[in-house]
Amino acid sequence: MFDQDRWSRLTEEERKAERHRAIKRRQNRRRARRMRENGPRDSYTLMQIGERDGWRCVICHSTVNREFKAPDPCSPSVHHLVEIVAGGTDTLDNIALAHRFCNSDSYAWGPKTPAEARQRLADRVLHGKHGPGRRDRVPDAGAVALAGDITSASEGG
Ligand SMILES: [Zn+2]
Repeated sequence: MFDQDRWSRLTEEERKAERHRAIKRRQNRRRARRMRENGPRDSYTLMQIGERDGWRCVICHSTVNREFKAPDPCSPSVHHLVEIVAGGTDTLDNIALAHRFCNSDSYAWGPKTPAEARQRLADRVLHGKHGPGRRDRVPDAGAVALAGDITSASEGG
């Protein structure tokens, strides 16, 4: 039900947020439907997948810290090896632990080598979503240390 009165009282900023939420709801419904259509699903928790995968990101191969919470780019997320949109199933054999950012970045910009993915994540940690081109954001010591940990991660070790 669309409430015209309520809508007319919203500020432009609130309307923008409301439209964004509506788009997200539609996307989530579509994705949930695709998941059902793709076949049987396993039940799992993020913690289980983290333990199984040794808290290491399947995309950039550096450590995932379970203390980070969404929407932090370094927070843990479940990556589908074959994407849901490509017919992948929501099953244990098709999922792996990944940083939230690595996961969405690989989805949006395509696969990259682990070293490239680490560099992308480190850039994100240091400079935020606007990238290294933005000069007014000075990374704090925590971000510098975290980015160093990410880029120095060794393959598979
Ligand atoms: Zn990662």
